[in-house]
Order: sequence, then C-alpha cells, then structure tokens
Amino acid sequence: MFKYQETYTAVCSECSLEFKISAKPIAGEPIYCQECYWQRKQQLSV
Ligand SMILES: [Zn+2]
Repeated sequence: MFKYQETYTAVCSECSLEFKISAKPIAGEPIYCQECYWQRKQQLSV
C-alpha cells in the first residue's frame, strides 16, 4: 500500500481543471494548474 499523503483538490481559475496540490489552497485566491501557471508566467514576463 502507498503511504497516505495529504493532498487538496484545487480547481484551476483559468481552465476549471481539477488537480491535486500538496499545499492547502487559499480561499478567494485564484489558483492555476501547472499548464496555466506556466502560460501566465510566460505572458507576464514579456
Ligand atoms: Zn488550468
């Protein structure tokens, strides 16, 4: 058996994809999946 690891389910603010994160999401803060996170980061650093 795998050792139980505490994860939280987050919903991406961009594409509504559900994904697991190891840190508790902050209520009211937008959260992005890995793909949207990197896309946003690239756009912001132009
Ligand atoms: Zn996303």
